[in-house]
This record gives sequence, C-alpha cells and structure tokens, in this order.
Amino acid sequence: MRSKLVIANWKMNADKAGVANLLAGYVESINSAAQVAVCPPAPYLQQVQEQLAGTDIVSGAQDVSQFESGAYTGEVSLSMLAEFDCRYVLLGHSERRSLFGEQDKDVAEKFVATLKAGLTPVLCIGETREQRLANETESVVSRQLDAVIDAAGIAAFADAVIAYEPVWAIGTGDTATPEQAQQVHKLVRDKLAAIDADIAQRVPVLYGGSVNAGNAKELFAMSDIDGGLVGGASLDSVAFAAICAAAG
Ligand code: PEP
Repeated sequence: MRSKLVIANWKMNADKAGVANLLAGYVESINSAAQVAVCPPAPYLQQVQEQLAGTDIVSGAQDVSQFESGAYTGEVSLSMLAEFDCRYVLLGHSERRSLFGEQDKDVAEKFVATLKAGLTPVLCIGETREQRLANETESVVSRQLDAVIDAAGIAAFADAVIAYEPVWAIGTGDTATPEQAQQVHKLVRDKLAAIDADIAQRVPVLYGGSVNAGNAKELFAMSDIDGGLVGGASLDSVAFAAICAAAG
C-alpha cells in the first residue's frame, strides 16, 4: 500500500515573519498520518529547517539546477539544498515550464541530478486547457513522462514522486473532478505498468490544482491519488491542516 504525501508549494510568497507564523500554524494544527512537506522560497530554507527541527514535517525546494556548481547566476544547487535537509524537489512545475521556458529535457536532467544527489524528485506533469479541449491530455502527459523515463530509466521511479497538475486547475479555483483526476492518474500508472508493473504500483502520484479543505477528501479517496501538491491553500495553516487530515 502506498502511503499518502501532501506537499505545500508556497511559490514566491511570504516573508520572514510570515514564514515563522505559517510554520507555527502548521506545527500546531497538522495532525495527519500522511507525510507532510513544505517547499518555501529558497531564502527561507534555513528558517524552515530550524523551525521544523524535531517535527515530522519535512522540507523541499521548488526547483533546482541540474548543474553541480559554477557560473550559473541565480541558480541553486542540489548540494545547497542537501545542507538544509531538503527531502523533496519539485521539478517541471507548470509555472517553470510556461513562465521560464523550462523544457522536458531540462526537467529530465534535473530529475537525474536530484536522484544522484539522494533527494526525491517530484515530477510535475499536466496539460493546458487548450490541450485538454483538443483531447491531447494523454499525449502531453505521456510526452512529459517519456522524457524522464528515457533519461533516467523506469527504475528511477522507485525513488520518485509524480504530481499530476492540470495547468487549467492551478491557482484558478477550477479543480479537476475526482473522476477526471483519477482517469489521468490511472493513465499515468498504466503507462508505467506497461514497462514495470512493480514500479507503477509503488510510485506515489499526487494531484495538484486548486486543492482545498472542501475538495481534498473526495480527491484523495480515489484509488490512484496518493495525496496532493497544494499551492494557494497551503498559505493558510488551518486550511492546509484540513487538507493533510483529509489524506489520512
Ligand atoms: C501548485 O502550485 O502546484 C498548485 C497546485 O497551486 P494551487 O493549489 O494554488 O492550484
């Protein structure tokens, strides 16, 4: 049985005082059997590390460089993340793909580098509204998965997480129905199973896209949905705690 995982993606939000408040709220309110992780903006990783020490909540990063070190202005390396005890790294988030031109090839390189560094990649995949309307969901998600399978091999998914995040549902309040999400999660798992049935059963597949306290339970009840990647609602500790509770 796969265990549940809920990841908070704070994106480029909060300040030092806000981070302290939010984390205090998390520690006070979260009571869940699920693994809970928080991905703050990189400058706050040390603050998160210090404030979450001794709790069950772990941290992650919103992105990382595929390069080890050197002349890459503005980038953050995996060894830097490891120094702050980051467990997870979000890769290929749709905002990175659409706003910063990240390509499948970059995402695949980051995935390989993340595993090599001993951190857990969270591979974000998903279609835009136009692609869904054009019946391209399966081909888009397959292409995004194939880029990583080709670069890393199927066995790499034994230590990875996938997050299905329909772009049209991210930050829009327009959530996929549990049935719509389950359909794509199953498609993802079937695709992996065609190569390696054991890996397909083991890999956690999270849903992301306007998850909130009101819809989380129904989404997480679906057989192929193993938790959530939560943006907006993770900036409210009470709402986020309710989402974590809905995961188990
Ligand atoms: C996200 O940022 O990954 C996300 C799913 O955001 P939201 O929950 O706000 O839609």
